Amino acid sequence: MVTSVRQTVVDTIGVLDLQGDVAEHLDHLERLGIAAVRVKESSDLANLAGLIIPGGESTCLSRLLSIFGIRDRLLQEFQLGLKLWGTCAGAILLASKIVGEPSFLALIDIEIQRNAFGSQLDSFVSEALLPRVAPDPIPLTFIRAPKITRVGRGVDVLLQQDDYIAAAESPGVLVTVFHPELTPSLAFHRYFALKCGLTPFMSEASTLIDSPWDSRSWTRYTRL
Ligand code: GLN
Repeated sequence: MVTSVRQTVVDTIGVLDLQGDVAEHLDHLERLGIAAVRVKESSDLANLAGLIIPGGESTCLSRLLSIFGIRDRLLQEFQLGLKLWGTCAGAILLASKIVGEPSFLALIDIEIQRNAFGSQLDSFVSEALLPRVAPDPIPLTFIRAPKITRVGRGVDVLLQQDDYIAAAESPGVLVTVFHPELTPSLAFHRYFALKCGLTPFMSEASTLIDSPWDSRSWTRYTRL
């Protein structure tokens, strides 16, 4: 049981490795010089500065988190200062309200609607300027994404688009409905590392990696 404030130096970010896109997050963190580990069981959550809950399928992820006993340990570590970033399905798991369904972790006061753009075939790429995250526009990949439809007190909107919010944060939790790990931009991983109190290699002006990313298609990303 976790009872006291953590004693050891925490300089590592974990990526939840139950289902979804894990390797891409690890790759982005490593390119920033941030130590990154896979989190497969509850003991892997010890002494992390932050945890990324990746995109995938939120119902599947929630079941696996409960079955493997990771959910309760995650809630404990959050109380002790673990920072969290949920991308897409991860954001759904962190939301305090999921339209039409019970919430799961409920660690950030947002309302979110699953599959709000339509089917998998309605996935798309775009780009947007998020001045708090990077000085240049950031490429965005939306894959059967949810929409954040409301944020509560203590939650800042990082990106508002048309009728929905695409990125938001509280002091302890970052949520994005898109997938920065599926683009050549390291800007969001850099931003999360800073939120975790870590020091990434790159400056905010140079977070684009050389990659064969095709900005016209969300299906054509290839890692180098
Ligand atoms: N549609 C998925 C869900 O509701 C999320 C998709 C994603 O993570 N790219 O869980």
